[in-house]
Amino acid sequence: MTEAGSGTGTRTDAGTGTGTRTDAGAGSEAAFEIAFKNIYGRAPEGIWAAPGRVNLIGEHTDYNDGYVMPFALPHRTRAAVARRDDGLLRVHSADMDGGVVELRIDDLAPGTTRGWAVYPAAVLWTLRQAGHDIVGADIHYDSNVPVGGGLSSSAALQVVTALALTELHGLDLPRQELALLCQSSENTYVGAPVGVMDQTASACCTEGHALHLDVRGLSQRQVPFDLAAQGLQLLVVDTRVKHAHADGAYGELRAGCEAAAAALGLPALRDVDFDGLDAALAALPDERLRRLTRHVVTENRRVEEVIALLDAGRTREIGPVLTAGHASLRDDFRVSCAELDLVVDTALAAGALGARMTGGGFGGSAIVLVDAGEVERISAAILQALPTARLFPTTAGPGAHRLV
Ligand code: ADP
Ligand code: MG
Repeated sequence: MTEAGSGTGTRTDAGTGTGTRTDAGAGSEAAFEIAFKNIYGRAPEGIWAAPGRVNLIGEHTDYNDGYVMPFALPHRTRAAVARRDDGLLRVHSADMDGGVVELRIDDLAPGTTRGWAVYPAAVLWTLRQAGHDIVGADIHYDSNVPVGGGLSSSAALQVVTALALTELHGLDLPRQELALLCQSSENTYVGAPVGVMDQTASACCTEGHALHLDVRGLSQRQVPFDLAAQGLQLLVVDTRVKHAHADGAYGELRAGCEAAAAALGLPALRDVDFDGLDAALAALPDERLRRLTRHVVTENRRVEEVIALLDAGRTREIGPVLTAGHASLRDDFRVSCAELDLVVDTALAAGALGARMTGGGFGGSAIVLVDAGEVERISAAILQALPTARLFPTTAGPGAHRLV
């Protein structure tokens, strides 16, 4: 994971970008096409987009075979692409220094690609491993998804690449399959043991909905999530901190959850019923496994509560469920940090309806549910408490799609 800059403390080589991200991904398609022409000396065959995501509820449940509920951000990564037939993959990103990266497709192998190009290389390599005959491409990217903020700029990059390459080669892969392919590329080629939520969100979400994904069996449902219609807004607060121990902790948490399930004689913590939680806790050998189990089981329950409230049009009432999720991640799973707690506490004190950290934790982003009329006041309170944060109101945008 180190080479891609996706690890902690390794963002200097691949994740710094050029600081011009604010309007990237939002400029016109015509201007983006001209940028491609200036780089590669010919026109692209098409332009695609794939969004970043926020997880509304269902944190650290994916690797326990449980429920997650992400929605797509309006922020997206675009790719302008043209095929090549000479065995070269050339990639360029408006958000990264270093110009065009040129790779020989026959030389691609896990562990050999440096810098951000590892993500597109991984997708192309994985498509070829799956038997799809993709011989080369020129790709130009831009994005307005904050990089390294826990909003899955990496999944957006993977999914837009996979969608563009498969569509250009006449392959009509189901979206969930596309997401699994991207996950596999990250596991095998990039070397990061991630779950499938982020890629599924980017590939499968639809506008105005949150996606209920049951990670066991991968069944999906689009749940109506139209905040504006209810006079509500969701703020995303990127703390812009990422604490160094995040990656090691992820492995330990995952192992802890597996140990707890094994101690209970179950395939995964998903199999502990909410009603059977007390009995399960009593059967576990130590306090740490009890804490991990309590979070996973109550978090799956919170996903069900949020779905029921959204289906009933009682969107306001999801606020306290989100806040309870934060308390569970802070006290039981212990993946929050001072900055995330500060954002959540400040938002609630200023009158937010609910707030929680979102993503893996130890930094990254929080979400805050507010009445639409309170956006400015609550935003100001958060920024006063944590001036280095980056904050924006958001809605549920579309999943990956072709633009041109
Ligand atoms: P995130 O939470 O944003 O997914 P990651 O650390 O998982 O954070 O992924 C960020 C990495 O993805 C960057 O360091 C870079 O290697 C790659 N990346 C993301 N967006 C872009 C982009 N627009 N252009 C080039 N590389 C990108
Ligand atoms: Mg990522």
